[in-house]
Amino acid sequence: MRYRRGMSKPSFSSEPWSYSRLTTLRRCPKLFEYQYIHRRAAMQTDDSLTFGTAVHNALNALYTSGSVPPVVGDTQDDILLRAALSGYTQRYDDNFTVETCEEKLTQKLFFGLPDRFLTILDLVVVDERGDRWLVEHKTTAGEIDTSQIRWQSKAFDLQTQMYMRALQVAGRPAKGVVFNLIRRPMIRKKKHETLEEFEHRAALTCQGEEYFQRFPVKHIEDDTLEQRIALLLAQHDACSQLKRWPHNEASCWAFGRECDFAQVCLGNRALLEHPMKERR
Ligand code: SF4
Repeated sequence: MRYRRGMSKPSFSSEPWSYSRLTTLRRCPKLFEYQYIHRRAAMQTDDSLTFGTAVHNALNALYTSGSVPPVVGDTQDDILLRAALSGYTQRYDDNFTVETCEEKLTQKLFFGLPDRFLTILDLVVVDERGDRWLVEHKTTAGEIDTSQIRWQSKAFDLQTQMYMRALQVAGRPAKGVVFNLIRRPMIRKKKHETLEEFEHRAALTCQGEEYFQRFPVKHIEDDTLEQRIALLLAQHDACSQLKRWPHNEASCWAFGRECDFAQVCLGNRALLEHPMKERR
């Protein structure tokens, strides 16, 4: 059935819009089609994603219960994760008050848009001066250099702006976002090194500001945020009506890696069944 914004919509549109849905659509409508219309995801797990998820889970446990759960196992990745978490807890002696951890908010964010938006906030804290801050954990494989525009531009990126707006609408405005940067250690065990020696070296490596930094970004309200999102939603509606989701070849290689669906776009449609898996 054809529809227009504000009229009846296909069922997938009744899902709240998350930052990741919006950003996938912005990155490439074809990718959005694979992930959110056909609900497919790549089977393979990227090491950096695995490390990032493990760190997120451990920090959630730390700020919920006061301690990091032990990392068991003796693979090189287990050892590096253990070293990173130990380095993190040694570096920071936090004196803020945790307000919420992994908080999920589903809200209407704008007067002019009927859509609901889902935001998942890593950590909301109140500092000793009574100011509220959103803390977002970010893992990175490269050097941490907060003078880079990559981090400076976070002040006006879509995720920061949406999350700040979500807290504002919830009646708990925040002063800004603190990006809690954790570098993924990329060292590997040397040929003649024992696991114990490697563990010792990893623990010595994962220390200091080379591996852990916090980058506060004061909130600068973007008065075009509603329009930025409205444009993406209009693009979504146009694609839905036409049942056509354009490719964006500028995004086939992003974040230092090939798009998970590159081979599908290159003609191997069978990959949509295997090794892709159904997305929940
Ligand atoms: S390979 Fe390129 S065009 Fe195809 S879905 Fe990925 S980003 Fe889009």
